[in-house]
Amino acid sequence: MTTKAQSYLTHFRNIGIAAHIDAGKTTTTERILFFTGRNRNIGEVHDGAATMDWMEQERERGITITAAATTARWTRSGTNDEYVVNIIDTPGHVDFTIEVERSMRVLDGAVAVFDSSQGVEPQSETVWRQADRYGVPRIAFSNKMDKTGASFELVVNDIRERLGAIPAPIQYPMGQENEFKGIIDIVRRRAYTYTNDLGTEIEEHDVPAEFEAKVAEMRQQLIEAAAEVDEDLMMMYLEGEEPSVEQLVAAIRKGTVEKKIFPVLCGSSLKNKGVQLLLDAVVDYLPSPLEVPAIKGKLEDSEETVEFPADPEGKLAALAFKIMADPYVGRLTFVRIYSGTLQSGSYVYNASKDKRERVGRLLKMHANSREEVTELKAGELGAVIGLKDAGTGNTLIADGEDRVLLESIDVPEPVIKL
Ligand code: GDP
Repeated sequence: MTTKAQSYLTHFRNIGIAAHIDAGKTTTTERILFFTGRNRNIGEVHDGAATMDWMEQERERGITITAAATTARWTRSGTNDEYVVNIIDTPGHVDFTIEVERSMRVLDGAVAVFDSSQGVEPQSETVWRQADRYGVPRIAFSNKMDKTGASFELVVNDIRERLGAIPAPIQYPMGQENEFKGIIDIVRRRAYTYTNDLGTEIEEHDVPAEFEAKVAEMRQQLIEAAAEVDEDLMMMYLEGEEPSVEQLVAAIRKGTVEKKIFPVLCGSSLKNKGVQLLLDAVVDYLPSPLEVPAIKGKLEDSEETVEFPADPEGKLAALAFKIMADPYVGRLTFVRIYSGTLQSGSYVYNASKDKRERVGRLLKMHANSREEVTELKAGELGAVIGLKDAGTGNTLIADGEDRVLLESIDVPEPVIKL
């Protein structure tokens, strides 16, 4: 049961973007920040020239994608539903595998980016296994569809064969390589093409006749995969009834959260194609903090575990997952709040260090700005200024509470170096 106090969490997505080096993680993240920065969802009309200027300026200034967690907002295309999308930086280099593991701990879902001309590369496999270990639901983005050698089928087959997962293509590219023109949404049976180079002007239309048979076949497979994880859909399927778009989305999302289905999307982040559709898929198919299992903690000197469900009115439980030195404000401790509310100026108990610590100011990081806030609530991520002792992986709970440590983020098994 979701209480009124928890209801904002249904519109939260805490995600990471994981990829093999060179697959396009940076470009994809940049484009996500570009599109969320102005909330350019499909259907809005924009002034192309102004957009161009803005993007150029951003490029010159350099979008700040170095924050350990960046807060963005996205209104799902075709709706007025605004979502908070926190993008957690997951380091992509093999050397930082432990760092990857740490960041996996604080996200509720991930976008795995693949280079569609390369398929699933060894390092993507490593990151995929880490996500498996931490139970992170994923959607896959077959990037670089414009590149010579690009093949959506290659990525889909590699997900099945190399990763042993069940790919569920929810999109299909209209053309590949030089001919890559747009994207078909298999669930909605709608086609999207781009009329400007920035990808901000999108036309939505019916599926072109040449793709109809392919789309029908893929949609049938999608319904069958979704029916496997959703009883209601299975009943409908057996009775020959066609599910509604909403029912199909809900069932695929259930399969994604249970890690039985991996939706696969496509696009070209370099050419700005498919990024808004990717953001729509993030809100459609990746879970909110309420849909993932509550984090557990171990009570000191006891075998007892305590759960901290995502609830701003619950007991405070937060995890420090990254420490960064900032030239202006000094030491920034990035935290994820799982339960309760962290107040600026308050005292917390650092259970890992057995120390009481004072929280100074609190910040939310955006692509180009930082916002000072007075509190961070359950489900939120931000940075704390003023914590002197907190280190990566430390548990922060309410001052005066019994000592409890959130599930360890130690690497559970040796990390295989490639
Ligand atoms: P990262 O190492 O995963 O962060 O990858 P980058 O985002 O830095 O991209 C690696 C290279 O691939 C760069 O030269 C990008 O310009 C290029 N790239 C990224 N996305 C695309 C794409 O959609 N199409 C093409 N053709 N190149 C891309």
